[in-house]
Amino acid sequence: MASAIPLVWSDDHRLHDPAAEIWVGVRTPAAEVPERADAIRRAVTAAGAEVVPAASHDGTALEAVHDSALLAFLASAWRDWEAAGLPEDPGQDRVVPYIFPHPGLMDGLEPFLPAAAWARPGAFCFDTMTLIGPGTWEAARAAADVALTAAELVAGGRRAAYACCRPPGHHATRGAYGGSCYLNNAAIAAQRLRELGAARVGIVDVDAHHGNGAQSIFWERSDVFTGSVHVDPAAGWFPHFLGGAAERGAGAGAGANVNVPLPPGADDRDWLRGVGELLETARSHGVEALVLALGVDAAGGDPESPLEVTAGGFREAGRLVGRLGAPVVVVQEGGYDLASIGGLVLATLEGIDEGGGRNA
Ligand SMILES: [Zn+2]
Repeated sequence: MASAIPLVWSDDHRLHDPAAEIWVGVRTPAAEVPERADAIRRAVTAAGAEVVPAASHDGTALEAVHDSALLAFLASAWRDWEAAGLPEDPGQDRVVPYIFPHPGLMDGLEPFLPAAAWARPGAFCFDTMTLIGPGTWEAARAAADVALTAAELVAGGRRAAYACCRPPGHHATRGAYGGSCYLNNAAIAAQRLRELGAARVGIVDVDAHHGNGAQSIFWERSDVFTGSVHVDPAAGWFPHFLGGAAERGAGAGAGANVNVPLPPGADDRDWLRGVGELLETARSHGVEALVLALGVDAAGGDPESPLEVTAGGFREAGRLVGRLGAPVVVVQEGGYDLASIGGLVLATLEGIDEGGGRNA
């Protein structure tokens, strides 16, 4: 069946090629590679999806979600690293932090913004595996453009649009990047949907890892419901320090965040129950538009998670999303098994079509 959901695209994702991650101090091959988006695009367009080029946007939509200090850092990080000579001495060809303003270091003091190009990344990055190279900023900006264009298609009347973007975004917070994410594409899309008229928006994150970024960005807001189903971080999985069921939002946002942590090895039944719970809660919050943060790394066989969801599970999740009845912006997050990610995304999009999200 041809997917009726348009695929929004930018070739500029290929400008970001992190090549490696620094994990437990060791340089290991990157999992978040350019081939990911190309593999997904091939599978989805082979099924007949229309390709819509991303429109470029100025910085306004990014500033609505991220601190200007983070945006300024990301825009100049590679240039500053190169100007400091770090690719030659000590021979590090990507921006990687080595010191962090840990709460235990600062003990309540406000940290300096470090003058040294080798210290500054620690002010903005919360791990060592999210490297910046030449083109990372341009690709991250393009990914946000892809998400914004998809949001604008949906605000303009399409029932659904798919943002085939990378680098992914769902671990990026208002002021920090990490987890292979730089700009929070799903949060940027949700904020845009709000501005274009949806009084309440939901972000439902089905990536195998906790959607900590949207949780944090919208923590005190009632107009953007956030929900995430993921492998339990407390059981040993990224982002390790948060993502529990007790995190429900605060202030005006109290009750507008829901986490469903699953044990390693959870399969379709448990995962779909979690997806259904998030969608029901989104419905009860009266969302008029939905952002589906679609990581497909919950699939059995993905190298980055221990969940055991099948392609049929992803198709059924799509049907549940389609049945919600709200227009949906699908934003690509994780998914690292190059042989299967395209089919998993296609199965989800076809499920959305089948569930009622088909464009009129
Ligand atoms: Zn993930």
